[in-house]
Amino acid sequence: MRYYSTNQQAPLASLEKAVVKGLAEDKGLYMPERIRQLDAAVIRNMQNQSFQEIACTVANAFFGEDIERDRLDQIVCDTLSFDTPVVPVTDNIFSLELFHGPTLAFKDVGARFMARLLGYFIHKEGLTEVNVLVATSGDTGSAVANGFLGVEGIHVYVLYPKGKVSPIQECQFTTLGQNITALEIDGTFDDCQALVKAAFMDERLNAHMKLTSANSINVARFLPQSFYYFNAYAQMARMGKADDLTICVPSGNFGNITAGLFAQRMGLPVKHFIAANNSNDVFLEYLQTGVYTPRASQQTIANAMDVGAPSNFARILDLYSHSDNVHDEICRHISGARFSDEEIATTIRNVYRETGYLLDPHGACGYQALADYLPAGSGCGVFLETAHPAKFKDTIDRILGKEIEIPAKLKAFMQGEKQSIELSNQFDDFKAFLLQQ
Ligand SMILES: *Cc1c(COP(=O)(O)O)cnc(C)c1O
Repeated sequence: MRYYSTNQQAPLASLEKAVVKGLAEDKGLYMPERIRQLDAAVIRNMQNQSFQEIACTVANAFFGEDIERDRLDQIVCDTLSFDTPVVPVTDNIFSLELFHGPTLAFKDVGARFMARLLGYFIHKEGLTEVNVLVATSGDTGSAVANGFLGVEGIHVYVLYPKGKVSPIQECQFTTLGQNITALEIDGTFDDCQALVKAAFMDERLNAHMKLTSANSINVARFLPQSFYYFNAYAQMARMGKADDLTICVPSGNFGNITAGLFAQRMGLPVKHFIAANNSNDVFLEYLQTGVYTPRASQQTIANAMDVGAPSNFARILDLYSHSDNVHDEICRHISGARFSDEEIATTIRNVYRETGYLLDPHGACGYQALADYLPAGSGCGVFLETAHPAKFKDTIDRILGKEIEIPAKLKAFMQGEKQSIELSNQFDDFKAFLLQQ
């Protein structure tokens, strides 16, 4: 399979090139040239299969031309050592729990798959060590660090702003050791991102070491997210509730929902998608006005969705670009919603009181958007619960007025010893550090 750039100004790339480069030369996002349809019978039969079996079928449709079947199956099975169960919250609203992986958030799926795919290419090509640079405000760093932990031939440098990530987040990428180095930058998240960008542009550094990114725009990170949409469908089908399915996705950079749109293109019978946002609502505004105005992000309690210029918007436009009226077509497939911090808190409180189900701030946007959309008593909906509430313990404790429990998996991280290297926010210091490696 070849990959084209959404900007149409870059040469077609192989899967390997798209994964190693991440972004195309023209700064566009890579898209697969074709989206293979799965037979309706194959999809229907998924209700008799395990998550791993389902994911192998989907992975083969995307990557089967480029990787031998048994190697690809192995990568999928290694990635998915955990399930994504569908849990009822009300009679017709279901939570697709994506937080059963190592860092308790959905980004584990894409990060783990990408790590194994990159590891495969490095091994196959006999490449020297590849260095992944990732800037994080919290969640991405933990998913990438844990996803790449122990993968041969890859070293990961996580840059994070000193004192600006939560203690739980910090211990998820500073206690790992092995091929993971945490760099504590005396600055902001934007400084971290600027350092990484400058490193990719620096000739001497690139001659010294092979650098790559593990951005969420990478095809190896975003396409595997389609696996759990099929798994959600299979579980709903098992319960006899898969007809007229609406799926609601708490969205920031819109990678997750784009993977769902890909699944629908492959034949997954989803009736409608909803993109749930916090007060960063450029997408909703686009749906309402037809005008897309990216802007600076606002800080909210659902902070992994604090994105003012969603990078995967370009992929969504591209998916519908065959249409005469792209905006109408997108509105036909996707609805939007926005929630203030106060509304998110109210939803968490009410749902907990009425059903006993504890939402995290991101999932709360998903739940509420779905509840507002579904006409009473008709049709079922699934929202993606993208992170475990304990990842946002302080916020949830404050909203509920009581201490919530921390799962054992998170506690284990908190018992590890923090190892990080402190650096200033000056590029010269960062460069000198990398040149010594
Ligand atoms: C990253 C993230 C999101 C947003 O996902 P996108 O793919 O960027 O739209 C939502 N919730 C949580 C918990 C996240 O970490």
